[in-house]
Amino acid sequence: MAGWLRADGVAAMTARSVAVVGGGAVGLTAAYDLARRDAAVTLYERDALGAGSTARAAGIAYDAYAEDIDVTLAERAIERFREFSGERDFRFAHAPYLWFVTEGGAAAGAIREQVERMRHHDRDVSLVDPDAIRQEFPVLRTDDIVAAGLARTAGTVDPETYVDLLATKARAAGVTIHTGTPASVALGPPRVNGTAYDAVVVAAGAWSGDVLADAGVSVPLEPYRVQALVAGGPAIPILYDATREYYARPHPNGVVAGDGVTTPTDPDDYDGEADDAFRDRITDRLRERVVNARVPVQRSWAGVCARTPDTDPLLGEVTDGLYVGAGWNGHGLMRAPAAGERLAEEVMGVRDGVPAFDPTRF
Ligand SMILES: Cc1cc2nc3c(=O)[nH]c(=O)nc-3n(C[C@H](O)[C@H](O)[C@H](O)COP(=O)(O)OP(=O)(O)OC[C@H]3O[C@@H](n4cnc5c(N)ncnc54)[C@H](O)[C@@H]3O)c2cc1C
Repeated sequence: MAGWLRADGVAAMTARSVAVVGGGAVGLTAAYDLARRDAAVTLYERDALGAGSTARAAGIAYDAYAEDIDVTLAERAIERFREFSGERDFRFAHAPYLWFVTEGGAAAGAIREQVERMRHHDRDVSLVDPDAIRQEFPVLRTDDIVAAGLARTAGTVDPETYVDLLATKARAAGVTIHTGTPASVALGPPRVNGTAYDAVVVAAGAWSGDVLADAGVSVPLEPYRVQALVAGGPAIPILYDATREYYARPHPNGVVAGDGVTTPTDPDDYDGEADDAFRDRITDRLRERVVNARVPVQRSWAGVCARTPDTDPLLGEVTDGLYVGAGWNGHGLMRAPAAGERLAEEVMGVRDGVPAFDPTRF
C-alpha cells in the first residue's frame, strides 16, 4: 500500500488515491475493483447511480465475438456476471443467443465466417439451419432464415440490479460515492473539482468526451440515441436479425426489443421517450418472427450510447494519470465487469492496457 509516487512527484505513504467520474456499470465496477486493490477511491456521479445509459440498457450479454480481445473481455465479463449472480437481487439468466440473416450472398457468408472464427476461439457457437432452429425454438418462424449462428454462452442481466450490487460492493470495499455531484476534471496533477488524485478514471458514458474536453483532452466519441421497449410475448431466445437490424431478448414480462437505428445526438439534450415509428417498426418485426405474437407494448424509452470511428472502445490511459473507459458502441453493459476490472488493473500498475483499445490511437 505504501510508497506510491503521486502524479505530482510526491512520494505518498498512503493508499493510491483515485477518482472515478461516472456511476454507471463501468465506473462502479472500476471503483469496486480499484478499492479491492487497496486504492482510496472517490466516485463522482452527477445524477443518480445508473441514471445514464446503464439503466436504459436492454441487458443482453454474450461472448459471440470473433476478435481475440473481444473474446477475452466477454469471457471474463460473463464469468464475473455468474460469480455475482445470487448476490442481492442480481441474476445472470442464461439464454442462448441466435443471430441470423434472411438474405444470401455476403451477409450469409459473414455469419458463416464469424461462426468459424468464434469456434477457433473455443466459443460454444454453431451454425444452425431453419429446421434445427424450429425444433429448439418452436416459437420462432424460420422459413426465411438463410444463415444463422447460435451461441450458448449468453444471457440477460437486469441493469439496475447490477448497479445496486456493484454500488453495495464498492461501498463495502471502502469507496466513497458522491451522487448528485457533477465532476469537473483538470490536469497537472489530475484533479476533480479541485481535489488532486494520483489518478482519475473517466467512465462517464456518452458524456465522456465532454468531461475530457473540459480537461483539455480531445477524444473522437460520437454520442447517439437508440430506443428500446418491453412488450408482452412468449419466451424467446436472445435474437438478432442482422438483415432487418433489430434484436429481442426474453424478459419476465415478455420481451425486450430494440433496433440498430442510431441518431447522432447531444447527450444533454435528447428525447428520452421512444417514438411511435420505433414502436410500430419493432412490434411489426416481432409479429413477423414470433409465432402468434401480439406483443402489446408495456414500456418504451430512448437512451444514449457513444461510438468511436473504428467502433472499438477507448480503454486506458489517455494522458498522465488520466484514464478513460468509454465508447462501447452499445455493448458497454455486457463488457462492464471486465472493462472496469481492466481499468483498475491498469491504474494500479498490475496489467498493461489493451493496445487495440488505446485511447490515444486516433
Ligand atoms: C436502449 C439501449 C439499449 C442497450 N442495450 C444494451 C445491451 O443489451 N447490452 C449492453 O451491453 N449494452 C447495452 N446498451 C449500452 C449500455 O447501456 C452502455 O454501453 C453502458 O451502460 C455504458 O455504461 P457506462 O458506465 O460506461 O455509462 P453510463 O451508464 O452512461 O454511466 C456514465 C455516468 O456518468 C455520469 N456523468 C456524466 N457526466 C458526468 C460528470 N461531469 N460528473 C459526474 N458524473 C457524470 C452520468 O450521469 C452517468 O450516470 C444499451 C444502451 C441503450 C441506450
